[in-house]
Amino acid sequence: MAQYLSVETLNWLLFEVFNVESLLSASRFQDHDVQSLRQILDTVKKFADSELYPVFREMDADPARMVDGQVKVHPAVGTMMQRASDLGLIGSTFDYEHGGMQLPATVYQGMSFVVDAANNHMTGYTGLTSGAAGLIIEFGDDHLKQTYLPKMMNGQWAGTMCLTEPQAGSSLSDIVTEAHPQEDGSYKIDGQKIWISGGDHQYCENFIHLVLARIPGGGPGTKGISLLVVPKLRPGEGGLVPNDVTTVGDFQKMGQRGYTTTHLVFGENHDCKGWLVGKAHRGLESMFLLMNGARIHVGRHGAAIASAAYYASLQFAKERPQGRRLQAGGAKNASQDQTLIINHPDVRRMLLTQKAITEGSLALILQASFYYDKEHTLEGEESKRYHELLELLTPMVKTYPSEAGKRSVDTGLQVLGGAGFCDEYVLQQYYRDIRIMSIYEGTTGIQSLDLLGRKIFMADGKALMHLYQEIESTLGSAREVADLAVYADQLKQHLDLNQQLLQHLAPLAAKGDFEALLSDATLYMEFLSNVVVAWQWLKMARAAYPQKDHSAFMAAKVHTMKFFFQYELARNHSVAQIIMQPERLTIVTPEEILD
Ligand SMILES: Cc1cc2nc3c(=O)[nH]c(=O)nc-3n(C[C@H](O)[C@H](O)[C@H](O)COP(=O)(O)OP(=O)(O)OC[C@H]3O[C@@H](n4cnc5c(N)ncnc54)[C@H](O)[C@@H]3O)c2cc1C
Repeated sequence: MAQYLSVETLNWLLFEVFNVESLLSASRFQDHDVQSLRQILDTVKKFADSELYPVFREMDADPARMVDGQVKVHPAVGTMMQRASDLGLIGSTFDYEHGGMQLPATVYQGMSFVVDAANNHMTGYTGLTSGAAGLIIEFGDDHLKQTYLPKMMNGQWAGTMCLTEPQAGSSLSDIVTEAHPQEDGSYKIDGQKIWISGGDHQYCENFIHLVLARIPGGGPGTKGISLLVVPKLRPGEGGLVPNDVTTVGDFQKMGQRGYTTTHLVFGENHDCKGWLVGKAHRGLESMFLLMNGARIHVGRHGAAIASAAYYASLQFAKERPQGRRLQAGGAKNASQDQTLIINHPDVRRMLLTQKAITEGSLALILQASFYYDKEHTLEGEESKRYHELLELLTPMVKTYPSEAGKRSVDTGLQVLGGAGFCDEYVLQQYYRDIRIMSIYEGTTGIQSLDLLGRKIFMADGKALMHLYQEIESTLGSAREVADLAVYADQLKQHLDLNQQLLQHLAPLAAKGDFEALLSDATLYMEFLSNVVVAWQWLKMARAAYPQKDHSAFMAAKVHTMKFFFQYELARNHSVAQIIMQPERLTIVTPEEILD
């Protein structure tokens, strides 16, 4: 079977670079040890090898679709939902009392990365079920917990998140789905939601939709939105009865075709009931718990697809003879055998780009998850500090692996030449699959507004100060190694450049010119993400250094760190130059330029 990730790198990141063992002293994780965590990862890898990777291409060729009014998905979705519970792919981070395993989130992300890399059409089914169950645990009353959690936790019932409507995508303040209070304490739901992932299929008995809707009197905008549980089948006398939730379509897509994307109508026959989760009119705040988790999951999907694409490109480059090395007399020297393309510097540049982006992205995801675990096992100010760090990192964790991952897969397709463009090879599927990552769960544009418009300046820039402290600590440690000191100095220069950028932008914020401040938010996202991924690479290179006898594995990490600094981080100078241009060419002008 083809390789789709490096298990050695994943384990090294988890157990050496991030030292997951250090988390296990928290009472929450006391039942786990390194050996048991390794076993869990091993079991997930075997499942991914035997059940998920082999059907990855079939799921693209035979996509989810409506047949006679029913959504049909690949049978492997049924296997995934059945096995998800034993494998810990639904509630592994939840408390024991809710049927969870109390695993560190860092380990859960590692497990899910394996599944994503094997078959990215799959983890959404269990990930959304887990996210929806998490919302019920956090904000639902006992009745909701007893009614829905047990079957969601064992994969019999699936969960979804229902935010988007035809007129309300990025702008959730415009949603119009209504929830009218009833005498029995339920709400009558009326509206429609589009592009709902995992919203219906033949392998789950029931679908538990977590729906954003307006209860009359809630006021306009995002503050008037409430969160409700709206099942496809509701508990009634004698068992489950239809709840007037109709699946009217399954969107056909360019990628992730095995992952159903449904159009749902609630209350076509005025008989759709929902139950409030948390407080009325405060639903978006609650939904953010799921959305923040989902943003990290989307970043992880991007990193995992980029990983699978990298190994497919690498294998091809090791097998494809073409041309001759320049030092052997080049193309003119036809008496020489052709060389493998992996020996051409330009092909190596492409492969190194893929490797640097993929492993840098994975490290960033694990870093964020590590902060999540710290936040949830520490208390008081310490916990708050990790919460703020996670808040700041989340838009970058969503965006960098999606955007740079897309470039990485594109570069990987180029490695294959004409074969990359043809169906026979898998690269074109990865190229199509990864495209959605920078769109759903908040587009890159929206994540960038969140980063520059909110997270950077929140609490007087406190989260950014924490991030600087974290990076400075890595710089200090890197400077202990003579070979790494120069890279520590380079990264420090980029931190200083970031300060210059913020000094340039802060006056725009001060005078309330938000359009100018945020007009290049996406470029700022690129800049700061490059800095945090360079930090991850320096951290990895530092971890590769304790051993004097440098193994090939460790040498590859240091080499890739150098590549990232030289070929990726260096681009930040031109990005900063664009952001600091005094003229803002993208703001609407009196005369329309875009004719
Ligand atoms: C395959 C798929 C699965 C999905 N799954 C789900 C799901 O499970 N649940 C769910 O609720 N939704 C889901 N969605 C919806 C998804 O989250 C939205 O598509 C996404 O949030 C963008 O909204 P939109 O498509 O309406 O684009 P729009 O909001 O119309 O945006 C179009 C463009 O304008 C830009 N833009 C919009 N507003 C601004 C602004 N204020 N400033 C700057 N730029 C702006 C955007 O960045 C984008 O480039 C899914 C979508 C797809 C395609």
